[in-house]
Amino acid sequence: MTHLDCSCEVHGKRDDGTGRHSVYLTFDDGPHPFCTPEILDILAEHRVPATFFVIGEFLAHQSKLIQRMIAEGHEVANHTMTHPDLSDCEPDEVQRQILETNRAIKMAAPQAVVRHIRAPYGIWTEEVLKASANAELTAVHWSVDPRDWSLPGADAIVNAVLQSVRPGSIVLLHDGCPSSEMQQGTDRSLRHQTIMALSRIIPALHDRGFVFRSLTREF
Ligand SMILES: [Zn+2]
Repeated sequence: MTHLDCSCEVHGKRDDGTGRHSVYLTFDDGPHPFCTPEILDILAEHRVPATFFVIGEFLAHQSKLIQRMIAEGHEVANHTMTHPDLSDCEPDEVQRQILETNRAIKMAAPQAVVRHIRAPYGIWTEEVLKASANAELTAVHWSVDPRDWSLPGADAIVNAVLQSVRPGSIVLLHDGCPSSEMQQGTDRSLRHQTIMALSRIIPALHDRGFVFRSLTREF
């Protein structure tokens, strides 16, 4: 699969003149009532901003989490209403998935400015890119994928990130789960490995001189 014309890394951006380099944490498939607050707590503890690609259908019940993200300096971005494979959707449905999510974010937090979109499963088509551009959204993929959704263990998630991260990397993690993939009984512990890994990834990358940024002003 080609990634067409979406951003996988942030190139040529600032290194602050201090030799430090930027890395971008992104979280998909939330907000989740139990996992997202734990991730926000870790980010707050380390004063690290991130970008959350949220699923629109969750927002009516999670507006406080969206407001907290914005209040704490994170970016909220579009990950469609119901997380379909957009390559299976008619153009009208692609457009609806994108525009309704923008509206849901604004309903949850009127001060939100939605600038970025990530297609579910990273499946980009010309139609998706066209509809995204029409909604004034920049398409953002990723360059570091530790496959945390597959529950490989916190060590594996940490190692995968630390082995492949470089200046400008966009790291893909998950703070929730699409409703179509949610299994009963896994709710509270759903992203436990991601949460454990995150609390180790941030200090390790700080030690290497990385600076964490949200995507807000990068594209
Ligand atoms: Zn997703």
